[in-house]
Amino acid sequence: MSDGPVLLVTGGSRGIGAAVALAAASEGWRVAVNYASNRDAAEDVVRRIAEAGGTAVSVEGNVGREEGVRAIFAAVDTAFGRLDGLVNNAGIIGPPQRVDEVSPERIEQLFRVNVTGSIRCAAEAVLRMSARHGGRGGSIVNLSSIAAVLGAPGQYVDYAATKGAIDSFTVGLAREVATEGIRVNAVRPGIIDTEIHASGGLPDRARDLAPTIPIQRPGTAGEVADAILYLLSDKATYVTGTILTVSGGR
Ligand code: NAP
Repeated sequence: MSDGPVLLVTGGSRGIGAAVALAAASEGWRVAVNYASNRDAAEDVVRRIAEAGGTAVSVEGNVGREEGVRAIFAAVDTAFGRLDGLVNNAGIIGPPQRVDEVSPERIEQLFRVNVTGSIRCAAEAVLRMSARHGGRGGSIVNLSSIAAVLGAPGQYVDYAATKGAIDSFTVGLAREVATEGIRVNAVRPGIIDTEIHASGGLPDRARDLAPTIPIQRPGTAGEVADAILYLLSDKATYVTGTILTVSGGR
Protein backbone atom coordinates (compact mmCIF):
# COMPACT_ATOMS: atom_id res chain seq x y z
CA MET A 1 0.00 0.00 0.00
CA SER A 2 2.57 2.58 -1.13
CA ASP A 3 0.04 5.38 -1.58
CA GLY A 4 -2.16 4.86 1.48
CA PRO A 5 -2.92 7.64 3.95
CA VAL A 6 -0.22 8.51 6.46
CA LEU A 7 -0.69 8.37 10.23
CA LEU A 8 1.70 9.66 12.89
CA VAL A 9 1.36 7.96 16.27
CA THR A 10 3.32 9.71 18.98
CA GLY A 11 4.57 7.22 21.55
CA GLY A 12 3.83 4.44 19.07
CA SER A 13 6.51 2.13 20.36
CA ARG A 14 4.66 0.59 23.31
CA GLY A 15 1.26 0.21 24.94
CA ILE A 16 -1.77 1.90 23.39
CA GLY A 17 0.33 3.66 20.74
CA ALA A 18 1.85 0.39 19.51
CA ALA A 19 -1.62 -1.17 19.32
CA VAL A 20 -2.84 1.82 17.29
CA ALA A 21 0.13 1.61 14.92
CA LEU A 22 -0.41 -2.11 14.29
CA ALA A 23 -4.18 -1.82 13.84
CA ALA A 24 -3.89 1.24 11.58
CA ALA A 25 -1.32 -0.48 9.36
CA SER A 26 -3.64 -3.46 8.97
CA GLU A 27 -6.33 -1.05 7.77
CA GLY A 28 -4.08 0.46 5.10
CA TRP A 29 -2.51 3.42 6.85
CA ARG A 30 1.20 4.01 6.35
CA VAL A 31 2.46 4.66 9.87
CA ALA A 32 5.15 6.80 11.47
CA VAL A 33 5.91 5.17 14.82
CA ASN A 34 7.30 7.83 17.14
CA TYR A 35 9.27 7.00 20.27
CA ALA A 36 11.26 9.00 22.82
CA SER A 37 14.06 6.65 23.85
CA ASN A 38 13.15 2.99 23.29
CA ARG A 39 14.32 2.51 19.71
CA ASP A 40 14.20 -1.28 19.93
CA ALA A 41 10.50 -1.24 20.85
CA ALA A 42 9.69 1.12 17.97
CA GLU A 43 11.71 -0.95 15.52
CA ASP A 44 9.86 -4.05 16.70
CA VAL A 45 6.51 -2.41 15.88
CA VAL A 46 7.85 -1.39 12.44
CA ARG A 47 9.10 -4.93 11.83
CA ARG A 48 5.75 -6.47 12.79
CA ILE A 49 3.94 -4.08 10.44
CA ALA A 50 6.32 -4.90 7.57
CA GLU A 51 5.96 -8.65 8.19
CA ALA A 52 2.19 -8.23 7.88
CA GLY A 53 2.66 -6.44 4.53
CA GLY A 54 2.25 -2.88 5.80
CA THR A 55 4.43 0.23 5.63
CA ALA A 56 5.94 1.94 8.68
CA VAL A 57 8.96 3.92 9.79
CA SER A 58 10.23 4.65 13.28
CA VAL A 59 10.68 8.30 14.19
CA GLU A 60 12.70 9.44 17.18
CA GLY A 61 11.71 12.60 19.04
CA ASN A 62 10.65 13.85 22.45
CA VAL A 63 7.28 15.61 22.09
CA GLY A 64 8.05 17.55 25.27
CA ARG A 65 10.83 19.47 23.53
CA GLU A 66 10.38 21.83 20.61
CA GLU A 67 13.37 20.38 18.75
CA GLY A 68 11.84 16.94 19.22
CA VAL A 69 8.53 18.01 17.68
CA ARG A 70 10.33 19.60 14.73
CA ALA A 71 12.46 16.49 14.21
CA ILE A 72 9.41 14.22 14.27
CA PHE A 73 7.54 16.18 11.61
CA ALA A 74 10.66 16.66 9.46
CA ALA A 75 11.12 12.89 9.50
CA VAL A 76 7.48 12.31 8.52
CA ASP A 77 7.82 14.83 5.68
CA THR A 78 10.95 13.07 4.43
CA ALA A 79 9.53 9.56 4.70
CA PHE A 80 6.05 10.16 3.28
CA GLY A 81 5.62 13.75 2.07
CA ARG A 82 2.07 13.89 3.40
CA LEU A 83 0.09 13.52 6.62
CA ASP A 84 -3.53 12.42 7.01
CA GLY A 85 -3.84 11.51 10.67
CA LEU A 86 -2.27 12.19 14.06
CA VAL A 87 -2.75 10.25 17.26
CA ASN A 88 -1.45 12.35 20.15
CA ASN A 89 -0.72 9.35 22.33
CA ALA A 90 2.66 10.04 23.97
CA GLY A 91 2.06 10.64 27.64
CA ILE A 92 3.65 10.16 31.03
CA ILE A 93 2.53 9.71 34.61
CA GLY A 94 4.33 9.92 37.94
CA PRO A 95 4.39 7.92 41.16
CA PRO A 96 1.32 8.38 43.38
CA GLN A 97 1.75 11.57 45.38
CA ARG A 98 -0.48 14.13 47.07
CA VAL A 99 -0.34 17.63 45.66
CA ASP A 100 1.63 18.81 48.69
CA GLU A 101 4.34 16.26 47.90
CA VAL A 102 4.67 16.89 44.17
CA SER A 103 7.74 18.78 42.95
CA PRO A 104 7.45 21.78 40.63
CA GLU A 105 9.74 19.91 38.21
CA ARG A 106 7.32 17.00 37.97
CA ILE A 107 4.35 19.28 37.28
CA GLU A 108 6.32 21.10 34.62
CA GLN A 109 7.42 17.84 32.97
CA LEU A 110 3.90 16.36 32.96
CA PHE A 111 2.46 19.46 31.33
CA ARG A 112 5.37 19.76 28.87
CA VAL A 113 4.93 16.21 27.53
CA ASN A 114 1.18 15.62 27.93
CA VAL A 115 -0.16 19.09 27.09
CA THR A 116 2.43 21.20 25.28
CA GLY A 117 3.58 18.17 23.29
CA SER A 118 0.05 17.35 22.16
CA ILE A 119 -0.77 20.95 21.26
CA ARG A 120 2.48 21.43 19.35
CA CYS A 121 2.07 18.16 17.43
CA ALA A 122 -1.51 19.12 16.58
CA ALA A 123 -0.29 22.51 15.36
CA GLU A 124 2.26 20.90 13.05
CA ALA A 125 -0.42 18.47 11.82
CA VAL A 126 -2.83 21.34 11.11
CA LEU A 127 -0.14 23.08 9.06
CA ARG A 128 0.08 19.96 6.87
CA MET A 129 -3.59 18.85 6.78
CA SER A 130 -5.72 22.02 6.85
CA ALA A 131 -7.39 23.15 3.63
CA ARG A 132 -6.47 26.64 4.81
CA HIS A 133 -2.84 25.67 4.20
CA GLY A 134 -3.45 23.73 0.98
CA GLY A 135 -3.82 20.36 2.72
CA ARG A 136 -6.35 17.63 1.98
CA GLY A 137 -7.83 17.41 5.48
CA GLY A 138 -7.33 14.76 8.11
CA SER A 139 -8.15 13.52 11.56
CA ILE A 140 -6.58 14.05 14.98
CA VAL A 141 -7.23 11.85 18.02
CA ASN A 142 -5.93 12.95 21.42
CA LEU A 143 -5.40 10.68 24.41
CA SER A 144 -7.29 11.97 27.41
CA SER A 145 -7.95 9.81 30.49
CA ILE A 146 -10.86 9.03 32.77
CA ALA A 147 -8.63 10.76 35.34
CA ALA A 148 -9.74 14.03 33.72
CA VAL A 149 -13.20 13.32 35.14
CA LEU A 150 -12.34 11.49 38.37
CA GLY A 151 -9.42 13.78 39.29
CA ALA A 152 -7.12 11.00 40.62
CA PRO A 153 -7.13 12.30 44.23
CA GLY A 154 -4.19 11.08 46.32
CA GLN A 155 -2.52 9.66 43.23
CA TYR A 156 -1.78 12.27 40.59
CA VAL A 157 -4.08 15.26 40.43
CA ASP A 158 -1.39 16.93 38.31
CA TYR A 159 -1.61 14.17 35.67
CA ALA A 160 -5.42 14.36 35.80
CA ALA A 161 -5.18 18.11 35.19
CA THR A 162 -3.05 17.53 32.08
CA LYS A 163 -5.83 15.33 30.73
CA GLY A 164 -8.47 17.92 31.61
CA ALA A 165 -6.45 20.30 29.47
CA ILE A 166 -6.54 17.76 26.64
CA ASP A 167 -10.34 17.62 26.86
CA SER A 168 -10.63 21.42 26.52
CA PHE A 169 -8.08 21.48 23.73
CA THR A 170 -9.95 18.76 21.84
CA VAL A 171 -13.24 20.65 21.90
CA GLY A 172 -11.67 23.98 21.00
CA LEU A 173 -9.45 22.74 18.20
CA ALA A 174 -12.30 20.70 16.72
CA ARG A 175 -14.36 23.86 16.35
CA GLU A 176 -11.37 25.91 15.17
CA VAL A 177 -10.58 23.67 12.20
CA ALA A 178 -14.03 22.19 11.47
CA THR A 179 -14.33 24.02 8.15
CA GLU A 180 -10.78 23.09 7.12
CA GLY A 181 -11.33 19.35 6.61
CA ILE A 182 -9.94 18.29 9.97
CA ARG A 183 -11.83 16.38 12.64
CA VAL A 184 -10.50 16.38 16.20
CA ASN A 185 -11.63 13.93 18.86
CA ALA A 186 -10.27 12.28 21.99
CA VAL A 187 -10.52 8.96 23.75
CA ARG A 188 -10.73 8.74 27.51
CA PRO A 189 -9.30 5.36 28.58
CA GLY A 190 -9.90 3.94 32.04
CA ILE A 191 -7.44 1.45 33.55
CA ILE A 192 -5.59 -0.13 30.63
CA ASP A 193 -3.02 -2.88 31.06
CA THR A 194 0.19 -1.24 29.80
CA GLU A 195 3.65 -0.43 31.16
CA ILE A 196 2.61 3.11 32.14
CA HIS A 197 1.60 1.87 35.60
CA ALA A 198 5.07 0.39 36.21
CA SER A 199 6.60 3.69 35.08
CA GLY A 200 4.54 5.31 37.86
CA GLY A 201 5.90 2.80 40.38
CA LEU A 202 2.76 0.62 40.52
CA PRO A 203 3.36 -2.36 38.20
CA ASP A 204 0.29 -4.24 39.51
CA ARG A 205 -2.07 -1.24 39.40
CA ALA A 206 -4.21 -2.49 36.52
CA ARG A 207 -4.74 -5.91 38.14
CA ASP A 208 -5.18 -4.49 41.65
CA LEU A 209 -7.92 -2.09 40.55
CA ALA A 210 -9.88 -4.67 38.55
CA PRO A 211 -12.51 -5.18 41.29
CA THR A 212 -13.26 -1.42 41.22
CA ILE A 213 -14.03 -1.45 37.49
CA PRO A 214 -17.66 -2.24 36.63
CA ILE A 215 -16.55 -4.69 33.92
CA GLN A 216 -14.20 -6.20 36.59
CA ARG A 217 -11.04 -6.17 34.49
CA PRO A 218 -8.59 -3.69 33.02
CA GLY A 219 -8.90 -2.85 29.36
CA THR A 220 -6.42 -3.87 26.71
CA ALA A 221 -4.41 -1.55 24.50
CA GLY A 222 -6.20 -3.12 21.54
CA GLU A 223 -9.61 -2.15 22.91
CA VAL A 224 -8.52 1.50 23.10
CA ALA A 225 -6.94 1.25 19.65
CA ASP A 226 -10.28 0.08 18.21
CA ALA A 227 -11.96 3.27 19.46
CA ILE A 228 -9.14 5.42 18.08
CA LEU A 229 -9.27 3.69 14.70
CA TYR A 230 -13.01 4.36 14.53
CA LEU A 231 -12.52 8.07 15.23
CA LEU A 232 -9.77 8.26 12.59
CA SER A 233 -11.85 6.49 9.99
CA ASP A 234 -14.41 7.48 7.40
CA LYS A 235 -17.03 5.83 9.60
CA ALA A 236 -16.76 8.93 11.81
CA THR A 237 -17.04 11.68 9.20
CA TYR A 238 -19.70 13.53 11.26
CA VAL A 239 -17.91 13.07 14.60
CA THR A 240 -15.78 15.95 15.83
CA GLY A 241 -15.16 17.57 19.21
CA THR A 242 -16.17 14.34 20.93
CA ILE A 243 -14.48 12.57 23.82
CA LEU A 244 -15.17 8.83 23.73
CA THR A 245 -14.84 7.10 27.10
CA VAL A 246 -13.31 3.61 26.93
CA SER A 247 -13.25 2.63 30.58
CA GLY A 248 -15.27 -0.53 31.20
CA GLY A 249 -17.82 1.62 33.00
CA ARG A 250 -15.34 3.26 35.38
P1 NAP B 1 3.13 3.50 27.94
O1 NAP B 1 2.84 2.04 27.83
O2 NAP B 1 3.93 4.01 29.09
O3 NAP B 1 3.83 3.97 26.56
C1 NAP B 1 4.15 5.32 26.44
C2 NAP B 1 4.62 5.60 25.03
O4 NAP B 1 4.85 7.01 24.93
C3 NAP B 1 5.92 4.93 24.67
O5 NAP B 1 5.89 4.60 23.31
C4 NAP B 1 6.96 6.02 24.95
O6 NAP B 1 8.14 5.92 24.15
C5 NAP B 1 6.20 7.25 24.54
N1 NAP B 1 6.66 8.48 25.14
C6 NAP B 1 6.75 8.78 26.47
N2 NAP B 1 7.21 10.03 26.62
C7 NAP B 1 7.41 10.52 25.38
C8 NAP B 1 7.89 11.76 24.88
N3 NAP B 1 8.27 12.75 25.70
N4 NAP B 1 7.97 11.92 23.53
C9 NAP B 1 7.61 10.92 22.67
N5 NAP B 1 7.15 9.72 23.11
C10 NAP B 1 7.06 9.54 24.44
O7 NAP B 1 1.76 4.35 27.95
P2 NAP B 1 0.23 3.91 27.61
O8 NAP B 1 -0.36 3.32 28.82
O9 NAP B 1 0.18 3.21 26.33
O10 NAP B 1 -0.43 5.36 27.48
C11 NAP B 1 -0.58 6.02 26.24
C12 NAP B 1 -1.46 7.23 26.43
O11 NAP B 1 -2.71 6.82 26.99
C13 NAP B 1 -0.88 8.27 27.40
O12 NAP B 1 -1.19 9.56 26.93
C14 NAP B 1 -1.63 7.98 28.69
O13 NAP B 1 -1.71 9.12 29.53
C15 NAP B 1 -2.99 7.57 28.16
N6 NAP B 1 -3.75 6.77 29.10
C16 NAP B 1 -3.30 5.55 29.51
C17 NAP B 1 -4.06 4.82 30.45
C18 NAP B 1 -3.62 3.48 30.94
O14 NAP B 1 -4.24 2.98 31.91
N7 NAP B 1 -2.60 2.85 30.38
C19 NAP B 1 -5.27 5.36 30.92
C20 NAP B 1 -5.68 6.60 30.47
C21 NAP B 1 -4.93 7.30 29.57
P3 NAP B 1 9.45 5.08 24.61
O15 NAP B 1 9.14 3.65 24.25
O16 NAP B 1 10.58 5.62 23.82
O17 NAP B 1 9.60 5.29 26.07
